Amino acid sequence: MNKYIIESKLCSGCKACKQICPNNAIDIIQKDGFEYPIKNNNCIECGLCKKICPMQNTIQMYNKLDNQEVYTCSHKDEKIVQKSSSGGAFTAIAQVFCDKDYIIFGAQYNEKFDVEHDYIEDINEIHKFRKSKYVQSDIKDNYQKAKEFLNQGKKVLFSGTPCQIGGLKNYLKREYDNLLCIDIICHGVPSPKVFKKYRDFIETKYKSKIKNINFREKNRKNGKWNSRNILIEFENGKKIVKNSNEDLYLRVFYNNLMYRESCKYCKFANPVRYSDITIADSWGIEKKYPDIDVHKGESLVVVNTSKGKEVFNKVMSYMNVRNLTLDFAKKENKNFREPTTFNKNREEFFLYLDDMKFDKLVNKYAKIGVKTKIKRTISNILPNKLQNTVKKIVKEKNA
Ligand SMILES: Cc1cc2nc3c(=O)[nH]c(=O)nc-3n(C[C@H](O)[C@H](O)[C@H](O)COP(=O)(O)OP(=O)(O)OC[C@H]3O[C@@H](n4cnc5c(N)ncnc54)[C@H](O)[C@@H]3O)c2cc1C
Repeated sequence: MNKYIIESKLCSGCKACKQICPNNAIDIIQKDGFEYPIKNNNCIECGLCKKICPMQNTIQMYNKLDNQEVYTCSHKDEKIVQKSSSGGAFTAIAQVFCDKDYIIFGAQYNEKFDVEHDYIEDINEIHKFRKSKYVQSDIKDNYQKAKEFLNQGKKVLFSGTPCQIGGLKNYLKREYDNLLCIDIICHGVPSPKVFKKYRDFIETKYKSKIKNINFREKNRKNGKWNSRNILIEFENGKKIVKNSNEDLYLRVFYNNLMYRESCKYCKFANPVRYSDITIADSWGIEKKYPDIDVHKGESLVVVNTSKGKEVFNKVMSYMNVRNLTLDFAKKENKNFREPTTFNKNREEFFLYLDDMKFDKLVNKYAKIGVKTKIKRTISNILPNKLQNTVKKIVKEKNA
């Protein structure tokens, strides 16, 4: 019988338990393409796995600021903004923190385009981690590796989802002055299995292997950047850019059909953070600062600790930075307030994942209604300022 470390619906898949186990007593099984730890016969019931699980224990927080600081910012180097998901905050923080003898951990595509955590020793390779990959990243044994580097006295910058940072903190069990943690505001992590099915489907359709995937393609159309555009480049030279009405994977993603079960109950989807610095998209910023060009990409930064503050004070020389409030960030960024609500058909979607052709499955469960289509098309065309005015009028009319 499977012996779970934690009820599967609560397990975030950080694998802190597997990495801490002294007896190699934890195996990994898959459900809906997500990984779950179970105990094997080597288990001596020492209880270490349960003790450090970030989902069933409090997470130790060090040097917490009494009042978190909130900023909106974009990198002064426009080329970096273009290559980043938002305003390039991640790169700017790395540029400041990583002066000498450093290691940077982040999420990258491997050669098969599965997403996994890895580390780099040279900041010139940071492009591997840039750009959001909308799929759960396999953390592998990177907490163990981070601990080794920390104990060698290297400066470690560890970036990931809030649950991955929670896992790292509990795995380490103590504060390290040479560690800086960055987490993202996260709406949930999609299934690696669905991502694989999608890749297989489009490689067959376009008769070529994928060469590059970019979930945050930033080319402007009608003067606007559509933050929901995906770019795929193939080895045969073909290149496609699709929006969230057109692309099959984005349709599943934005219909909230394929997040990990634990994302529904996420204990990190709020302003209580366990990283030193939280980064995200600066949604709604044009309401507060109309002169900011949101179509380049703008980062929201929340500084959570005194260590984060020390670093971010220096980041200011790399970025154009303006003040925001915690209330503004909470109002404009839903997942800084609460977890994503799941689609009621999620279970059914996974039930048919293996048996239905990918496009048929998506057309069945992620149908785009006429209303949504119109809404998304308008949002692709209208400048944000005008969009906000339209939304206000509609809201007033419906009140
Ligand atoms: C799954 C996911 C959900 C997100 N949800 C939201 C949201 O609801 N609201 C919001 O405002 N922002 C969200 N973001 C964050 C946002 O997309 C940007 O990553 C963030 O604004 C940082 O931008 P940047 O320009 O500084 O980063 P970039 O330079 O583009 O760096 C991206 C950073 O994200 C990390 N990363 C990329 N993919 C993953 C992954 N799969 N798992 C763990 N870490 C990853 C990289 O290691 C790197 O540190 C999400 C990102 C991901 C990956």
